[in-house]
Amino acid sequence: MYRSTRTDAIVIRRERLAEFHKNLTLLTADLGLLRATAFGAYKGQSTLRMASEPFTRSLVSLYHDPVRGTYKVTEMEVRESYEGVRGDFGRVCAASLWAEVAQRSLGGGDSTGELYRLFVRCLRHLDGCDAASTPYLTAQYLWRFLTLAGYMPDSGRCERCGARWAQDAACFFEPAGHAFLCSSCARPSALPLSAGARRYLEASSALPLEEALRARLADRSLRDLEACLFAAVQAVLEGELKTLRFQGALP
Ligand SMILES: [Zn+2]
Repeated sequence: MYRSTRTDAIVIRRERLAEFHKNLTLLTADLGLLRATAFGAYKGQSTLRMASEPFTRSLVSLYHDPVRGTYKVTEMEVRESYEGVRGDFGRVCAASLWAEVAQRSLGGGDSTGELYRLFVRCLRHLDGCDAASTPYLTAQYLWRFLTLAGYMPDSGRCERCGARWAQDAACFFEPAGHAFLCSSCARPSALPLSAGARRYLEASSALPLEEALRARLADRSLRDLEACLFAAVQAVLEGELKTLRFQGALP
């Protein structure tokens, strides 16, 4: 027996199925991450054609076949289409990375509704932001994802010896242990994090997204921060992020 349902959702992945259909991966507000087929969505006259493109947010009507475990899209009412994201390569790269994190974490597990809301808020900012703001949006998305996933490392002290940081103290990050460590405790393979980047993470944890996005770092600090966050998220997901490899952001 089929059951129909509706949910707010963002298309985070779209693959062609036969000539005219699309297999969609949807990050939903209340049903987690799900795959659904949009039949005929590649046909010119299909009302699903634009709504089923990546990074479009819609109210999606679905038929669920509980026996086969499949979903079929019957209707998509577009709520936000983020044209500014799709028209810019750098923004597409950022959103693709966020989408891969959402997909690989199975929609954030128990925190799927929160991850959905974080994704939507970040997309709204990305839609109109300048290129210099994009890395900060990605940093905030990844840092907040780690919190939702229950893996936010304590950025206030050395995880091993417990020493609190002096104001201008740099530190090190060990991805495997999800730990910030002082120079005495860190192994040589640990990633450096400048005092500025460490303070940025610590401060932004307590701030709403909009306020956290106003802060800026020196170029070197931003690069260190990105490397630490990429490593932390990859450790949680237990594997390399393909989007980062494709974008040349991994060593
Ligand atoms: Zn220590």
